[in-house]
Amino acid sequence: MQCVDCNRLHGRLREICRGESDLPDDKRQTYIARWLKSGMLQETDCSDGLVSIETPVDGGRRKKRRTGGRRQRHISPNARRKGKGGGGCCKRAVTFAKTMAAWAADGLKIASATEQAERRQICETCPLNSEGWCSACGCHINEKIKLRVSFCPTAKWFVGQPPRAVDGPRHLMMHIMPVTKNGMWQWNVEQLLQRIDIFDGRRAVAIVTPQPGCKYTLDTVAAVQNAFRDHRIDEWIVARNNPRLREGATWPQLLTAVSREPGVTFACHAMGVTHNMQHLKLPWTEIQWMTCLDDWTSVERALSQYSMAGPFKRYGHFAVGNNNRWHYSGTFYWFRNDDVFRSGKDWHTMDKRFFASESWPARLFRPEETACLFCDDTKDLYKQHVWDGRVYEEFEQWKAARILS
Ligand code: SF4
Repeated sequence: MQCVDCNRLHGRLREICRGESDLPDDKRQTYIARWLKSGMLQETDCSDGLVSIETPVDGGRRKKRRTGGRRQRHISPNARRKGKGGGGCCKRAVTFAKTMAAWAADGLKIASATEQAERRQICETCPLNSEGWCSACGCHINEKIKLRVSFCPTAKWFVGQPPRAVDGPRHLMMHIMPVTKNGMWQWNVEQLLQRIDIFDGRRAVAIVTPQPGCKYTLDTVAAVQNAFRDHRIDEWIVARNNPRLREGATWPQLLTAVSREPGVTFACHAMGVTHNMQHLKLPWTEIQWMTCLDDWTSVERALSQYSMAGPFKRYGHFAVGNNNRWHYSGTFYWFRNDDVFRSGKDWHTMDKRFFASESWPARLFRPEETACLFCDDTKDLYKQHVWDGRVYEEFEQWKAARILS
């Protein structure tokens, strides 16, 4: 009998290798074969602690997802029918034309040998690599990785920029408006707690209390703090709700809480608290939690090349004045503390509008200084047709590229 040492892998990949994931065994075998081929695993004689290639460690029993299957409910049947393929020859032709135009605009630059090697390595082990073709964009991988201006459609690697180290701690800043009854703030806190271990740096959480005339009933500060159970929070910020600024009411204090720290910071908020669980805000928020926190390797790669990274990057001005040229739609983003808090950057100032925290990144950085982790150049996410026409399909691809279901 031949075995492999699954402990060489991490996270989701280790689960799949050990047969603890919800993937069928034939898929598990396919991945193991691919990892053996790429050198991520090696076949060896069986001994204690090693997993047989043929039989998973638990005999094929599948583990339940931690969200009880909720994730799947949001994917529309329409999007599922489209599947995760790279589309037909039309899509390939469009992608090819766009790539050539971008390459010409980039001065026909070729990626460095190191960069090409890194891209190749990522693509070789990607589940969307279909015999040398990328199933997400339809490009031929060997050609795609050579162009400096190329990027991975599922954000596993990015347009070539000189990399910098991402070696400090990871901090958290979160704003919560605890609207009573609809369960959304609790759901957001639960999403965070499932991933809280990623934050080995400072953790700051702001809770707002009702302002005079507030049209919502809010849960107490103690109720929110209790929801975090025994998890470490270094700084609680309590402030009066300000409907004119929304998250912007506590953003300056949250930023101050991490401003003297090295490393990187994740900024988020309990999103959708004034809506119910059926609203589009639920899948929107869930995608943000997943794309920001479930694949640290890709986020780290983005932050090594850019000052910020987040999903749903949207270009153009807001519908109302006094704002900037791009934003992360939904206000979930990572940033490099050294770039934001360096001298000369006015990180204290925010637009005095309801979108203050959403427009804040563009006050500091040009769009080309920031990365998109999912659905670049997104359109109005309040429109159902945007989801059915693109977002759900790309989300399936994003998950498939990471072996998530
Ligand atoms: S999705 Fe990205 S990593 Fe996967 S094959 Fe395509 S380009 Fe490569």
